Parts: sequence; C-alpha cells; structure tokens
Amino acid sequence: MPTTETPGAPPAEERVFRPAPSTVIEANVKPAELVEAYRLAAADHPGYWEQAALELEWHRKWDAVLDDSRPPVYRWFPGARTNIVHNALDRHVHIWTKNKLALIWEGEAGDCRKFTYFELYREVNRLAGALRALGVGRGDRVCLYMPPIPETVVAMLATAKIGAVHVFVFAGYAAKFLRERVNEAGAKVLVTADGFYRGGKLINLKAVVDEGLADARPDVAETVVVVRRTGGDIDMQEPRDLYYHDLLRQESPEAATEIMEAGEPLFWLPTSGTTGKPKSVVHSHGGYMVGAHHTFRTVFDIKPTDIHFCTADPGWITGHTYGVYGPLLTGATVILYEGHPLYPQADRLPAIIERYGATIFYATPTLIRMLMRYGPQYPKNRDISTLRLLGSVGEPLGPDAWMWLYKHIGRSNCPVLDTWWQTETGMAMLSPMPISLLKPGSVGKALPGVAADVVDEDGRPVPPGQSGFLVLGKPWPGMLTGLAGDDAAYAAYWEKIPGVYFAGDLARRDEDGYFWIQGRADDVLNIAGHRIGTAEVEAALCSHRFVADAAVIGLPDKIKGEVAKAFVVPSPQWQEAYADADAFASDLRAHVRRELGPIVIVRAVALRESLPRTHSGKILRRVLREEEEAGGKLF
Ligand code: ATP
Ligand code: MG
Repeated sequence: MPTTETPGAPPAEERVFRPAPSTVIEANVKPAELVEAYRLAAADHPGYWEQAALELEWHRKWDAVLDDSRPPVYRWFPGARTNIVHNALDRHVHIWTKNKLALIWEGEAGDCRKFTYFELYREVNRLAGALRALGVGRGDRVCLYMPPIPETVVAMLATAKIGAVHVFVFAGYAAKFLRERVNEAGAKVLVTADGFYRGGKLINLKAVVDEGLADARPDVAETVVVVRRTGGDIDMQEPRDLYYHDLLRQESPEAATEIMEAGEPLFWLPTSGTTGKPKSVVHSHGGYMVGAHHTFRTVFDIKPTDIHFCTADPGWITGHTYGVYGPLLTGATVILYEGHPLYPQADRLPAIIERYGATIFYATPTLIRMLMRYGPQYPKNRDISTLRLLGSVGEPLGPDAWMWLYKHIGRSNCPVLDTWWQTETGMAMLSPMPISLLKPGSVGKALPGVAADVVDEDGRPVPPGQSGFLVLGKPWPGMLTGLAGDDAAYAAYWEKIPGVYFAGDLARRDEDGYFWIQGRADDVLNIAGHRIGTAEVEAALCSHRFVADAAVIGLPDKIKGEVAKAFVVPSPQWQEAYADADAFASDLRAHVRRELGPIVIVRAVALRESLPRTHSGKILRRVLREEEEAGGKLF
C-alpha cells in the first residue's frame, strides 16, 4: 500500500499483516459492524457515543449527550447520574460475573492473591465505610501513594464509590513530588503501604511518606492509612497513621454507592512529565466511564474467557483505564504484577502469562525493547500460546520492536494493537482493531467517534504522507474535564490551533488513513527546512543490528539549521564487529542515511549504557538536551 512521499520522509513501511480468519469471525466488532460504526459516527457523532453509553447502567438518563455550548468546556451526558463503581463492581454482584475472578495479583516473590468480583466488592465496601468514618465525602480528594498491590485497586474503587476523588501518585516518585500533589489536592486522607518488593529489594514506601508529609500543609493528610504489605519496620505516627487492616476489621461489607452527576470528578492524575512538569488531569464519572468501557470492549475485544495482563502500574493512566476501570466495567479478569519485569530473570512476564493463561498482553515499547535485548529464548521457553492479542502504548513502538513483539510474543498469530492516547484523552484514540490490517510501526486509524487529523500551523489538513501536528477535531467522552485548578492551561490545549485539541505530537497519515507518530512536536528536528520527527530517526537507528535503544535530539548547525545527535545504547556484541567507537558511529551514520535519505544528517553519536527516562519509562529528550547545552558527555 504505497503512500505519497515527501522529500526527507522515510520510505513507507510496506509490510502488511492480516488478522487470522478466526480473529475476524470471533471479533466483538466484525468488518461490517466497523463500517457501520464509522458511518454512524460520521453522520451523528453524539448519537454514536449515546449508543456506547446505553451499554452501561445509569440512575438517571442524560438531558443531552453533549453540551458543547461553551467551548472549550465540553460536558458529556449532562443531567445523567451514575457512579463508575456501580458499573465496575456493584452490578456484577447481581449477575453471573459475581463469582468470576476480577483480579489476579502476583507479588514479586511469587505470592499470589485472587479476588472474585464479590470478594472485591466486599473489600471495597469495607474501605468505603472506613473512609466515610474518617470524614471523607463527595468531592473530597484522597491521595493514593501505592505500589501495585490489590489494596491499590480497592482504594481507587472505595474512593470513587463514596464520591471522593482519587489522586494517584506513582510509588516511584520522591517525597517532594508527593508533598506537592497532596498540597495541591488538599487531601485529608492519604492511603499508602508500608512498602513493596521490586528487583529483589524491599522498598520502604512509608519512609518516603513521612518525609513528604513532614513539611506538607498542616491541613492535609490528617490521616494516613497504611496497608501492611511487607511487614517491614516502619514508624507509625499517632494519631495520624492507621493500619488499613485495623480500620477495615470493624467495617460492614456493604456500603452505599454515592450517585454522582456525570460530570463530577472521579480522579486527578499527573501526566508522565515527558515534556516538562506533569499536569494534573481531571476525569469524570460519566464520560470517562463510557470511553473506558467502550474502547476496552471494542479495541481489546474483551470476551468472558479473557485474562488481561496490563503491565502498566495502576498509577499511570494506562493502569487506570485498561488495568482497572476498563476491565472491571466489562466484567473481565485482570492480572496485576507487583515487581520488576525482569526479576528474577528475563522470563518473568512470559512466566506470568503462562501461569494464569493470559490472553491479552498490554505493555510499553520500553518494556518490549527490554525483553528484546534479552532475546527470544525467554518467551520461547514458556507456553504463552494462550495469548490472542498484544498491545503497546506510551511511545512510538517502531517497526523493529513491533516485528519482535509480533513474532516472539505473538507467534505471528496475534494482532498488535499499538494504541495512541494520552492521560488527557483518558481512552485510546488511534489504534488498529483486532480485525484491521496491520502495518508495523503505525498506530492505525482514528477509532470510530474520534476525529483525528494531521494539520499545519494554521490548522489546514496536510496531504497524505506529509508530517504535521496531530489534533483532535471533536470532543470525545473520555476527555479530560479540566486541569486541576488551572483553567488557562486547560484552554491552552484548544488555543494553539483554534477550535481543535492540540495533542503535542507530530504525525503523518498515509493514504489508507493510518497514522504514524513521529515524536513530540517539541522535539522535532528541522534539518535544511525539513521537519523530521525524532521517532523516525530513532526507529532507523534501532533497525541497526547492534542498536538496542536510541534517542535523538537536534544540534544547531550554521548551514542546515539543525542536525541530529544520537544517543545509542549498543547491543553487547558491537565491540566484536567494529574496531572502535568511531567506526561504529560512522556505520550508524551511514545506516541512517541509507534508511532515511541524505537529508537526515546525524552529526554526533554518543554511546550510553541507558537513556534517561520518566518514571513511566519514556525517553527524556529534554534531559539529553540540557546535558548537551551544559557541555555534554561525549563518548
Ligand atoms: P507530559 O504531557 O507531562 O509531557 P506525557 O505526554 O508523556 O507527559 P502521557 O499522557 O503519559 O504523558 O503520554 C501521552 C503521550 O505518549 C502522547 O502524547 C504521545 O507522545 C505518547 N504516546 C502514547 N501512546 C503512543 C503510541 N502508541 N505511539 C507513539 N506515541 C505514543
Ligand atoms: Mg503529554
């Protein structure tokens, strides 16, 4: 399927993979239904999402599907009432899913805990009662500083159940970040754990909490609820700190669910902070619920027999939407793993897939590259034949990691769903469906009901094959309702190019409507007047057989305006193939030239053992740029 080339654009990926006939026959959304979904969404955008909303239970129906009278403020399902926990948990207790496994948790040491929907429901109710007894109510923020353990899921749901707002702070963040988030949220209650295990070590989380709260605002975190996970030695401060298990012991296994207006907040969540300071994104009960449920049912094609393994920490949007809410809203079984993905060795994730018979594996490019580096023998030595769908999110996967995932994890038999979305979008926006033709490195088309486009600075659509800014032309139910306490920053998403949501990514769309993410708009290289995304240069580098990982930044150049500098993590055998680092670097430069054409000039190559990353595992090009400006660490 050829695409129109522009000077400087890389050659189009020409491999196309078709789904197996059985995948098409059994899919939740079959080809004719997908055509109909696109038709309906184009003809009646709110009507499409109204149908999706009707798949869930509401205590009161909406007055309108969408209130768009005050852009850029959009309100989905105004007048409607529900609670996401009613749909994710309460309703299962009255149907067959009651005794189905909701959650399979595996600790790093190999310990395992399983919860049916009924058991999860009861535990959530106990904590909901305890939080109410602590004075937490509708609209109050509860801060969660939690490792990946079952109580984390319980705490999210219990908070939402009583109408409070969970503000998750990923357990890898340091004390200062925790303090800032607790202060910002004005959270009276913080839920945490004594610690957890990662990479064979006991991480004392409570010590970080104590440090973070030491100079927090006096009116926040009056109560700290501590889950005993490790039994490690911690300092319990009276009367602030209470053990979770002590609190729950007295509570009833039944608790009323607070019925919320659709637009009321469900959670605040920081973005990954790849481009700067993280932004606290706000999501609501109604719209977010519809987005999470609908995309999980259709894109992830969830069936009653599925076991979904989402490797993302619950503290990221991927964990929120496709590790907790999406699966529970659809009555699925989800696997949560506590520890390091390579502990005690590189077959840990394949071993988990084998042990529980996971059918869907949803990971990040960083993780997939990590597995690649250790080699295909690890997944090969495990029976992972239960898998039927693979997914990726968070960064460009690139054709070579795509192929590796497809071949070595998917046995050339499982569609790869490379899903593009953001903390702000709340739900997948661009993605192949299981029945789609797949192009390695592409995130597929815009999903039905999603109006994505690639435009120039003035908002004019660019022709196929050319790069431009990725924008979203119409509101969608999973969208953020705001940024915590910062209306101006929220409005800014819609002001860069008036009338559309500016995603901040650079992309191309080919003639089939497939999107190719080229990197962050902020990171774009401008070489001799050609805009080149970092992702494409990085993918070209990663296709070299001695490159395990790569990051690219721009360097100013008098003649070309800008040239590229590459930071490369070599695979271990490179020294056997080259006389020295110079010889390796010049081969890498020649390789990029061959792959992308002479326009893409890589001026310098630095070899690194690893690349700086965000807590969610994304490459921090701004750190590399800062380092470079400060004099650089050349190899
Ligand atoms: P911040 O907004 O704080 O700079 P962030 O954008 O990394 O951080 P997230 O919301 O976690 O925070 O990530 C969304 C971004 O991740 C997208 O804008 C995009 O750049 C990237 N991304 C997500 N999924 C994909 C994908 N499938 N392919 C390529 N890039 C992706
Ligand atoms: Mg972002």
